[in-house]
Amino acid sequence: MTVIAAIHPEQLQREQRRQRSSCPEIWALLDQVKDPEIPVLSIWDLGVLQDVVVDDAGQITVIITPTYSGCPAMKQIAQDVENALLEAGHERVTVQSQLSPAWTTDWMTEEGREQLRQYGIAPPGVRRGDKKIQCPQCKSDKVRLVSEFGSTACKALYQCTDCAEPFDYFKCI
Ligand SMILES: [Zn+2]
Repeated sequence: MTVIAAIHPEQLQREQRRQRSSCPEIWALLDQVKDPEIPVLSIWDLGVLQDVVVDDAGQITVIITPTYSGCPAMKQIAQDVENALLEAGHERVTVQSQLSPAWTTDWMTEEGREQLRQYGIAPPGVRRGDKKIQCPQCKSDKVRLVSEFGSTACKALYQCTDCAEPFDYFKCI
C-alpha cells in the first residue's frame, strides 16, 4: 500500500486563494509579518493568514485565524499586518479575525515546519497521521516529555534521550 502525504483540505484551499489572488504583491508583503513568538515563522507559514481581499475602492481586508483563542500573540500580529502594509503605502487596511474553521497545526506549511526545526523547535505532527516527535538537533525519535508546557502554552518541553538536548515541541492541535 502506498502512503500519500495527505494535505489538509483547508490548507489546500488556502494555497489556492493565494495562487489565484488578484493581489499577489500584498500576500508577498505579508510574508514579512512573523509570529512574535517564533520570529522565523511568517504568518503565512504558520497557517494564520487566510485571505487578502482588495475592493474596487482599494480598501484591503486581511483575514487571519488565531492559532488558539486567547493567544497573546494575535493582537501583535494584527498590528504588524497593518504596519507592514502602511509602510508599503497602503493606508486603508482592515484586519479581520475569522474563528471558524478553527486553526489547526495541519495548516502549517512544509517550509514553516522546516524553519521550526532549524530554529530548534520540533514541528507539530499531522493530526490524522502518527508522525513521531523527533529531536530537532539529531533527528532521534527517542524523546521524553518533560513538561506539557514549554516556553509558551502552545508548546511542550521535551528532552532527547540520545543527545540529551531539551527542546520545545509545537503541540499538534
Ligand atoms: Zn537529539
